Amino acid sequence: TRRITLASRPQGAPVPENFRLEEAELPEPGPGQVLVANRWMSVDPYMRGRMNDVKSYVPPFQLDQPLDGGAVGQVVASGAPELPVGATVLHGAGWREHALLDAGSVTVVDPELAPESAYLGVLGMPGLTAYAGLMGAARFRPGDTVFVSGAAGAVGSLVGQIARLSGAARVIGSAGSPEKVQRLLELGFDAAFDYHDGPVLERLREAAPEGIDVYFDNVGGEHLEAAISVLNTRGRVCLCGAISQYNATEPPAAPRNLALAIGKMLSLQGFLVGGWQDMAPEFREKMAGWLASGEIAWDQTVREGLEDAPQAFIDLLAGANTGKMVVRL
Ligand code: NDP
Repeated sequence: TRRITLASRPQGAPVPENFRLEEAELPEPGPGQVLVANRWMSVDPYMRGRMNDVKSYVPPFQLDQPLDGGAVGQVVASGAPELPVGATVLHGAGWREHALLDAGSVTVVDPELAPESAYLGVLGMPGLTAYAGLMGAARFRPGDTVFVSGAAGAVGSLVGQIARLSGAARVIGSAGSPEKVQRLLELGFDAAFDYHDGPVLERLREAAPEGIDVYFDNVGGEHLEAAISVLNTRGRVCLCGAISQYNATEPPAAPRNLALAIGKMLSLQGFLVGGWQDMAPEFREKMAGWLASGEIAWDQTVREGLEDAPQAFIDLLAGANTGKMVVRL
């Protein structure tokens, strides 16, 4: 069986040489363990932070050790009666073709209810991030005008659609290409712009002539600065990600206008999905309903084979994906 290890720590943007494809022995499950053949694995922006040797909310990846992350697969050998061979499970040991896991560390999912890869996206961690970030951290209310950056990605595309379905007055998204902007309009965003088309502040002012009430930040930097300028009094920000800075080797300058938050009485709420698990049941119920009625679309970009996973990750950070980036093993 094969797996991918961290060969070296990226300096700036990751490159293929930072990763190594390795052969490994196929392990046998002991009592209480299962062997899972992974079918899908996730590549996520937060993995970039784990490639640096710094203390954070998740420990760093170790050199010459396999990477890990969300994955879905089938149990192919079992030492746990509650998890028979053939069960489909979600777990955290991606970046490898086979995973040996304690039965208690996997979640059984229903492949009849939704395609397997949905559990890595719309029904999984990114879906809960979008829902809890918007409803919980940003305290969304019907009638709000919502701006989301990274809007064509896994989280952002769901934030915009959830806001629309929940009674937003206006939903605005920014993304990195004309094709993505077009897709956002198809998804029901009221306005969308390509952030390469001039200063974000100018584009946002055009798209939101009456200001915004909520900003869902996936990007940080210039986007956050522009949003602070355009937010209305008592506006709310979900600080979810800052992907424009993940490859940075120097500290960022923006937002330079943070003091505006005082006079406008803004709320800037840092968000980690792990801290909002109590919203998971409500999220699952709502999302299942929207999926059943066909009101929410979820895009994914699929790469094939474990050997393509490093490039999928590199391309994710560069914006090659529309919707969730996943690798089929
Ligand atoms: P996405 O599917 O949105 O993929 C990342 C996207 O980021 C790319 O497609 C690219 O799209 C965009 N991007 C890359 N570089 C830049 C840049 N310099 N400026 C603007 N956009 C850029 O990933 P996710 O939906 O999985 O994650 C979105 C954000 O949410 C990330 O910041 C992530 O870290 C964060 N997150 C946070 C969680 C939490 O608990 N706090 C949980 C999950 C995600 P484009 O073509 O538009 O540039």
